[in-house]
Formats: sequence, structure tokens, C-alpha cells
Amino acid sequence: MSIASQLQQVRNSLPPGVELVAVSKTYPPERVLEAYEAGQRIFGENRPQEMAQKYEALPKDIDWHLIGHLQTNKVKLVVPFVKMIHSLDSSRLAEAIQKAAAAADRTIDVLLEIHVADEESKSGWEWAELLEYVRSGAFAQMPNLRVRGVMGVATNTDDEQVIRRDFAALQSHKNDLASFFGPEFDTLSIGMSQDYPIAVEYGATLVRIGSLIFGARDYSK
Ligand SMILES: *Cc1c(COP(=O)(O)O)cnc(C)c1O
Repeated sequence: MSIASQLQQVRNSLPPGVELVAVSKTYPPERVLEAYEAGQRIFGENRPQEMAQKYEALPKDIDWHLIGHLQTNKVKLVVPFVKMIHSLDSSRLAEAIQKAAAAADRTIDVLLEIHVADEESKSGWEWAELLEYVRSGAFAQMPNLRVRGVMGVATNTDDEQVIRRDFAALQSHKNDLASFFGPEFDTLSIGMSQDYPIAVEYGATLVRIGSLIFGARDYSK
């Protein structure tokens, strides 16, 4: 099936209030353009360099979302144009984004990525650490960051109960943090190709879907 028809199918399956981030990592700009021409405007990438290259190559009304781990030394690659960073996972990174965003005179939407999955390898804040940092009031000193909500990745498993446990934890963390931020703290970025229908049940407002739209990824290139 074509990218346009896959995109349409995914769109039709989302209830109102849930927005689609089309995850275009590893796919070439021509494929991204197909999705753009079918009306998609929000794209997600996990590598700063690749995202910057696609930003240069593609129409400028695309909203670019960084969904992968960001090293502090790569912050300046994305700050000039990125719309939302889903993967804010440390105080060092928050400070680096604030500094670069202030220098660029931009305000950047960020999500707090929280680690809930069984895999140790997955990134994100440990909940207690994040809560302590938020309570310290550090974000009040970062006027160029707009903290919009929470992002997370569920355990990679066929066990639906484990996936439900992870999404429920992320939803509840988002609710627990809401009182520290303003009404703009309204975003829950959960759900990928394999698990997004479940994520929607747990209050997803952004789903991040790649392979279901663009086909299987080729990591060898
Ligand atoms: C790659 C990726 C996705 C999309 O994965 P698919 O299985 O292709 O839908 C979503 N979120 C993150 C953080 C990713 O790295």
C-alpha cells in the first residue's frame, strides 16, 4: 500500500484530540515528502543530524519533533528549528536547551521523558529523580522551555498487561506533574505502531508512528 493510504488508515483510527507524529527516521526525504503531500505536517526523528538534513531538504512548514535521546553537544544542531523535543531526560540537557534557545531567541516545547519500561537500556528520568527536580523549581528559571507534558516508551513485549501497566504509569505521572505547570502541560506522547491503540485508551494526545506508515525500516543503510 502507498504511504498516502497507510497514513489515511492510521489517521482514521485516531479519535479526535489525538495527533499523529509520523516517525520518518531512516526513511529518505522523498518518502517523507509523499506523506507531506498527503497532508501530514508533524514528523518525528530520533537523530539530530538526520533531522537537520531533512529540515534543510523539505518544506519549511513541517513541525519537526525530536523523539530520540539528545546529547548536550548536539543541542545546537536542532534548536534553530525544532518544534518539540520529546526526549528531555536530564537536568543537564534542560539547562543546555535553555541556554541554546535563549541565544537563538526561541521558545521550545519539551516533554519530560520518563523511564517505565522493564528494559534498563531505555532512556528517561527515573520518577523519583524527576519529581525532585520539578519540585526544586528549576524549570521556573528556564523561560525558553515550555514544558508541555510527558513522553514514554512501553516495554517491548507481546504481553498486553505489561504494556497497559507502563501506559497507566505514564498517564498517572503526567497527572501528578500537572499541578507544577500551567494549562499548557497538556501532552502525553505514548504509543508506537505496535501499541498505539492501547496508548489511546490511556490518554495519549500524541502517538509516534513510523513503520505502520512508511513500511519496515532498513537499518543497514
Ligand atoms: C522509532 C520510534 C517510534 C516509532 O516506531 P514504529 O514502531 O516504527 O512506529 C516511536 N517512538 C520512538 C521513541 C522511536 O524511536
